[in-house]
Formats: sequence, structure tokens, C-alpha cells
Amino acid sequence: MSEITTVGVLGAGTMGNGIAHVFARSGFAVRLCEVEQRFLDRGLDTIRKNLAREVSKSKLTQDEMDAALTRIQGTLDRSALAGCDIIIEAATEKFDIKRQLFAELDTLMPAHVILASNTSSISITKLAAQTRRPGNVIGMHFFNPVPVMKLVEIIRGLATSQATYDTVKILSERLGKTPVEVNDAPGFVSNRVLMPLLNEAMFAVMEGVATPEAIDEVFKLGMAHPMGPLTLADFIGLDVCLDIMRVLEDGLGDPKYRPCPLLIRMVDAGWLGRKSGRGFYKYD
Ligand code: NAD
Repeated sequence: MSEITTVGVLGAGTMGNGIAHVFARSGFAVRLCEVEQRFLDRGLDTIRKNLAREVSKSKLTQDEMDAALTRIQGTLDRSALAGCDIIIEAATEKFDIKRQLFAELDTLMPAHVILASNTSSISITKLAAQTRRPGNVIGMHFFNPVPVMKLVEIIRGLATSQATYDTVKILSERLGKTPVEVNDAPGFVSNRVLMPLLNEAMFAVMEGVATPEAIDEVFKLGMAHPMGPLTLADFIGLDVCLDIMRVLEDGLGDPKYRPCPLLIRMVDAGWLGRKSGRGFYKYD
């Protein structure tokens, strides 16, 4: 395994800034690449706030926070990624964006460099096919909030090599995370199992079986879930939930993955959950 010291992260949104945060905190140099300065500034600002929160909880010293921040270099120029040992793509969940990015990264980065995607649902095999290094393409699926959640779902595409898998597994462990291996299939394991649960909870609301509050109570108190399914759907974003249900429906071809009509209507209305101020609940 070639030594990984410098990590390129594409996208400084919810996931990208969290990924940059955990790598920098673990001693890696990070190049964080965005498409617009305001998104980069927002991502860097979030990293600062989240590191400061760790300092206030005595999980990190001020010196460690300062050192982590100096390891992160923000950029709008993808050619600045050239010296990185691995790239983790955490850009918007649209196949066209990722397709172009993987094709471009393939020309930019030396052939041995691993190109990983944090996608929630897009086929790793398809992304790998945009490159001339399919053996070096893999899914590295972190969970939100990245600094807190222990899991990394590692997704093997059809052509992913054992060496690539081993490198990413060890890398995840160096971040203090627990990697779990899965094969490439729509929704992988996490979203294939979680999203139908959330979708079914939405059917229960739509059919008047119970209120969102009651459904969430059932799961918190009866199943020891830290968050009920409708609170979780609001947290993830209802548009994201709908996109993933459509990936499951298209990819698996089984009507049991039909998105709940109430979910579709709420997304049409712009009720996207916590981020838009309204979903199954209202937020200030
Ligand atoms: P987000 O919308 O918060 O952030 C995406 C960022 O990517 C935006 O800031 C956008 O400007 C940037 N971007 C778009 N095109 C780019 C490009 N060509 N180069 C660099 N940056 C680019 O989205 P997110 O929630 O952070 O999701 C990012 C990825 O992580 C998606 O693939 C998503 O499926 C996955 N994911 C999300 C979650 C979650 O809970 N939000 C969990 C696991 C995985």
C-alpha cells in the first residue's frame, strides 16, 4: 500500500466538510475543493465551529484544533489536487456531476491514485467505468455528522481491486472509524434497508395510521432508535430521501420501493425537512 499523507476532498457541503474535518484531525494534509468561494467559506467555517465544539467538550486541545486547521487548504482549482494520494468525492448527488468529475480526475491524477466516492446511492461500478482505472475506484460512504458517526460503508465496485479495498479499509481505521464491506448494489446496505423504513413511516402518516410524533415515539421507546424515522427523514432531507427511493425503485425494479406519494408532494412543495424549515416537523 502506498503511504497516504495528503487527501483531496471534492465538495465542502454537509459531508465534504465533515470528511475534511476528520482527516485533518487525524493528521492528514487535506485539500478541500469547491466550485464557488462562498461554498468553500461556508464549509471551512463549519469545520472551525465543529472543531471548536470539540475543544469546548475537551475532546481536543486548542493547539490540536489550530494544527488541524493549518492542515486544510481550501481551493477552487481542481489542478491543486494533483499531489494528493487519494481523492474522496463528496459533491452533489447527481450522476452527471459525478460522471464528469471522475472522468476529469482520471486525467488529472496519476494512475495509482484511488478515486473514492461518498455517494449514498450512485453505482460505484458506473463511476469506475468513467475512468481508465476501475480497479482504483471505490465507495467510501461516511455518515452524517461525519466527526461523530463511527461507520464507513466501503463499497466494492465490480472491478475494485483487493489492494484498493485494503488501502481504504486501513485508512478508515486510521480515522478511528469502523469499516464495513458491502458490494455495489442500489442503496448499498444502509440506504436499501433504512429508506424503505422511512418511506413506510410516511405511508403510515399519509394513511392516518398515526401522527409523526406517535410514529417517532414508537421507534424511540419501542426499538431504542435514537431518532424516530420521520425526525430522521427531516434530518437527512426529504429531497434526498426521494432521490434514494427512486434509485431503489429504478435499480431493483420492485414496486415495494415505490416512493410514498406524500413524500413526493412535500418535496414538490419545497418542504425538504430541517434544511428548509419545514418537513414532517417545523423548525425555526
Ligand atoms: P451538499 O449539497 O451539502 O454538498 C455538496 C457540495 O458539492 C456543494 O457545496 C456543491 O457546491 C459541491 N459541488 C458540486 N459540484 C462540485 C464539483 N464539481 N467540485 C467540487 N464541489 C462540487 O451535499 P452533501 O449532503 O454533502 O452530499 C454530498 C455527497 O455525500 C452526496 O453524494 C451524498 O449522496 C453523499 N452523502 C450524503 C449524506 C447526508 O446525510 N447528507 C450522507 C452520506 C452520503
